[in-house]
Amino acid sequence: MKVAIVGAGLAGMSCALNLEGYADVVIFEKNDVGGLVSYYCTGNYCIEKFYHHCFKSDRELIELAKNLGLKVTWRIARIGYAFDGKIYPLNTPIEILKYPHLSLIDKIKLAVFTLKSKRRDYLKEDDRGVIEGIKEELGENILNKFFMPLLKAKFGEYYGNVSYAWLLARVAIRSNRKLSGEELGYIRHGFHRLIEKMREGLNVRKEEVRRIEKIGKGFEVNGERFDIVVYTAPLPTLDEKIKKAAGIQEIKYQSSVCALIGAKESVTEDLYWTNVADSNIFGAIIEHTHFMPFEDYGEHIIYLASYSTPNGWLFNKSNDELRKLYLREISRFGLSEEDVNWIRIFKAKYSGPIYEKGYLKKITPYRTKLKGFYVAGMTSPPNYPERSMNGSIKAGIEVAQAIKEDFLL
Ligand SMILES: Cc1cc2nc3c(=O)[nH]c(=O)nc-3n(C[C@H](O)[C@H](O)[C@H](O)COP(=O)(O)OP(=O)(O)OC[C@H]3O[C@@H](n4cnc5c(N)ncnc54)[C@H](O)[C@@H]3O)c2cc1C
Repeated sequence: MKVAIVGAGLAGMSCALNLEGYADVVIFEKNDVGGLVSYYCTGNYCIEKFYHHCFKSDRELIELAKNLGLKVTWRIARIGYAFDGKIYPLNTPIEILKYPHLSLIDKIKLAVFTLKSKRRDYLKEDDRGVIEGIKEELGENILNKFFMPLLKAKFGEYYGNVSYAWLLARVAIRSNRKLSGEELGYIRHGFHRLIEKMREGLNVRKEEVRRIEKIGKGFEVNGERFDIVVYTAPLPTLDEKIKKAAGIQEIKYQSSVCALIGAKESVTEDLYWTNVADSNIFGAIIEHTHFMPFEDYGEHIIYLASYSTPNGWLFNKSNDELRKLYLREISRFGLSEEDVNWIRIFKAKYSGPIYEKGYLKKITPYRTKLKGFYVAGMTSPPNYPERSMNGSIKAGIEVAQAIKEDFLL
């Protein structure tokens, strides 16, 4: 049995690992192995092109790392909020009480909302808009002073279309915080160690898939015959004819732009993640060397993260223009050009689905209407309410299981 997997991201490689010994598998990859977790190497170290950390609930990722001889390190990651040019740490109860842009009543409302989120039936809220939901439940002030900047930073121009169900589900999974902050995980020296270990022994071909055709009981992928195809690349890149025959629904995607900086100085004193409310260039400053030890790198590593849309103004600017924009904007926070050792711009056109109203009805099943054609990746069931490394590893495991049940066992 010959299986073609399109994409050597986490979903594709996880599927291939779980089909080992059952089928003859070829993975086609047009860019770098690792997909959105691919990395950039300076002469001294490698670092993810886009910031990455994992969570205590990421069971499949932690288990995979362990099986490959790697350990996840856990650290409290301190967070903050930049509002009107000032950065406020928001971790301990005292720091939260001191935050001046929300009243005490608003803070209590937010705390109760978070505590109750686990018991909510969010499925009922799928057709309700997030703006409408927050406004009705928490009021205009919490919407404008707290959630609105976060939504704009996360979804770019599409923020108004996001479903309230998504927010409720997201708050519920992220409410397991300690009093001092949230514990996040990382594979010391980089997730590229996981990617490299996964890749060992897999048959990955550096080749873009340009043509998939249904021929008899099987498929032709770039003219080569396969019995089964597993599509893990973003859905907008899939051929319309196949999409229609497979009954796959349209899903809108966001795109990401990240400036990755090696610097002599840090921006904040000790924060890992600072949400930025008042910038139209980036929505978060992520200081990797306030999460992992500075000594592992010998310089500060800072990401400036922006979400856009595939046709958005930011995504379509040249890297040169973006470098200038990001450097000018970060200087507002005290990091001058002289403090910057180097800066790189990384873009991903399809970096995650937009969790629009009605999204729950669109989640892509592994089995499609086209027998032998499977889909796994960012729009699969384990990637709701947030696409993640763990979600794609789990989708790879589950799609491999579906193939075994249908063809191989
Ligand atoms: C800015 C950013 C930050 C993130 N931070 C985190 C985080 O902190 N924690 C977390 O858990 N997750 C995070 N994620 C999400 C996580 O990286 C992804 O959900 C996960 O890696 C997706 O894996 P995938 O295999 O489903 O898709 P992808 O990684 O997109 O893999 C798909 C692969 O298909 C290839 N491909 C596309 N078209 C073709 C073709 N025609 N032929 C051959 N190959 C093709 C692509 O090159 C790619 O390698 C982040 C993502 C982004 C963008």
